[in-house]
Amino acid sequence: MPTYPQPITSKLPNVGTTIFTTMSKLAAEYNAINLSQGFPDFDCAPELRALFCKYINSGLNQYPPMAGIIGLREAIAEKIQFLYGAAYDPEHEVTVTPGATYGIFTAVTAFVSPGDEVILFEPAYDSYGPAVEVNGGVPVYVQMRYPDYSIDWEAVKNAITPRTRMIILNTPNNPTASVFSAEDLRVLESLLNDTNIVVASDEVYEHLVFDGHQHQSVARFPLLAERSFVVNSFGKAYAVTGWKMGYVAAPKNLMLEFRKVHQFNAFVSNGPVQYALADFMKNRDAYLALPAFYQQKRDFFLAHLEGSRFKPLPSRGTFFQNLDYSAISDEQDTDLAIRLIKEKGIASIPVSVFYRQPPAHKVLRFCFAKSEETLAKGAEILRKL
Ligand code: PMP
Ligand code: GLN
Repeated sequence: MPTYPQPITSKLPNVGTTIFTTMSKLAAEYNAINLSQGFPDFDCAPELRALFCKYINSGLNQYPPMAGIIGLREAIAEKIQFLYGAAYDPEHEVTVTPGATYGIFTAVTAFVSPGDEVILFEPAYDSYGPAVEVNGGVPVYVQMRYPDYSIDWEAVKNAITPRTRMIILNTPNNPTASVFSAEDLRVLESLLNDTNIVVASDEVYEHLVFDGHQHQSVARFPLLAERSFVVNSFGKAYAVTGWKMGYVAAPKNLMLEFRKVHQFNAFVSNGPVQYALADFMKNRDAYLALPAFYQQKRDFFLAHLEGSRFKPLPSRGTFFQNLDYSAISDEQDTDLAIRLIKEKGIASIPVSVFYRQPPAHKVLRFCFAKSEETLAKGAEILRKL
């Protein structure tokens, strides 16, 4: 194909291919153990697969309603009520989306106008900054404190200006594996009082919180919930990242604006999957078992790393374990991550890519949503470094 004849003014001049695509591709090329991109290497529940097939075969293959089938929206509202004590009206306050990334992007598009500022925490999940910038917004970064990745709320307060339109939260946090405490959310609630700032709260790892702690959803805090989009994904909870299904819950007046954008973008989300998820969500145990299931994987991975020169950072939530490699190498994390794939057969994610400028600390992120066999093999390679 001949190239486009004019110079292109990119809307995202600083963006390349995502680290997840890059690392998973390299891992496949070098046949490396892939602990980079976050996805389970085991299959989802057989009942869920059977339900999907059932609904495809029963002819539910045309457009579902724009906001999602009501049965799934009711199941989502019921889950939020059960876990966080907040009442969302399934008709007007819950929308099923093709994944959480889409949910965040749509919330940003619906609310952020050119020149508006959006507060992000750094390191930031890779989709947030570009979602803001492509809409003409200005990301304003607040640093999480290393090594516990706690939030300096005074810095957040100082980052708020009359132009601040939105703040994007992510707890449990990717890539840091930290979680917000109830106190964090109480402080945020008071900071945002009397502002018109909207919150997009990425809670895709809501069920992956360890050591007896509870997930602090914005839905638990009424004054935060009234200005928030709770964004979630079925990918992590049900080990179906490839299905790209998620949802957003928000008060009616916020959701009205969200749906204005959604109806002209994806318009609907996959229909038969929604029927399957609505049935599957009736079984609360499927998500209530997740903290113990993933904590056991984290502990298995850590136990197999005993004696290694890597220093584990706390993993309080998500399915990621960060390892400080300063005792092993002075290399930049991006260089080391590539070398480990090519020379040692193990893939990870260099955490510096979630920063604008590489930080001084040396950390690689490893995904432990893997079978014990994969984790043991991965840890064995790492122990020898
Ligand atoms: N947000 C965070 C913090 C994530 O880690 C991920 C991917 N694992 C997503 C959003 C994407 O979710 P989805 O695949 O449903 O778009
Ligand atoms: N969220 C996943 C991770 O952090 C990857 C999702 C993606 O590839 N965009 O690894």
